[in-house]
Amino acid sequence: MVKYVKYPIFSLIILATAVGLLSSVYENAAVKETRRFNADTFRETGYNDDELSLFCDVAFMHENVRVRKWNRDIKVEIKNIADLSQKSIDEVDSVIAILAPLIAPLKMERVNRGGNLLVYRRVPEVISNKLPESVCLNGLSKVNRKSSYSWAINFAMVYDGCNSNSQTLMHEFQHALGLDHPIKIYPYYVTIGRSVIPQFFRSQDEVRAMLREPFYISKEEKTVLKMLYSSEIRPGLHVETFAQKMGFTDEERKRMIPDVNKRPRIIIYPEEEKLLRK
Ligand SMILES: [Zn+2]
Repeated sequence: MVKYVKYPIFSLIILATAVGLLSSVYENAAVKETRRFNADTFRETGYNDDELSLFCDVAFMHENVRVRKWNRDIKVEIKNIADLSQKSIDEVDSVIAILAPLIAPLKMERVNRGGNLLVYRRVPEVISNKLPESVCLNGLSKVNRKSSYSWAINFAMVYDGCNSNSQTLMHEFQHALGLDHPIKIYPYYVTIGRSVIPQFFRSQDEVRAMLREPFYISKEEKTVLKMLYSSEIRPGLHVETFAQKMGFTDEERKRMIPDVNKRPRIIIYPEEEKLLRK
């Protein structure tokens, strides 16, 4: 009896080994693809040192080390459109109008059905399943999990609460495009910052200028999105590969790539009373 049983077992072992081997070949090919990067072509995107530094801080969303970005046109569908005022719908269109040119050649447009970026606006409560239920957020964004072989984004959801403002919507859309919260503090307003409250302003005039702008996005963040959607940046690109192929010196590496262990508590600059005293 044993004689007959051992052959199927043997075949199974062979099959399992073959499948394992094939998937590791496939995985290696996928990882190799993420390493394809030409620094000279990437530099043609056009950016300054500050923008490169912000890019290194916010563009490596997956576990703080790898790029995630869309690999297809984005179709924005407002799921609760029937419950919304015209103004709330127009605000989504405004965000799309601002962000769409930054992700070319990919397109972003609003659709009535069949969307791959779903928006739920002005919901009564935004609760994350990663945080205690008592914590209510201004907004929330989720992108599809990475698959074994791909870091590409092909589906996302954006929520904003009934009391949040248009900046929250812009912030959540930026997450949906693949940006992460910054670790460092910047001398200008960063929409993708942890808080929608300005990180740092040099004068009240700057605060007022920002508040007058319903969909404020800094020039630096616009450039960062263009850099992320450069065809040289592939989903899954590792920050170390990027630093190496860009030829960063040790000093540049220190200056550009933030220490993820210092990922902070929420910091709001300047503290409000300091702002009022000025
Ligand atoms: Zn956020």
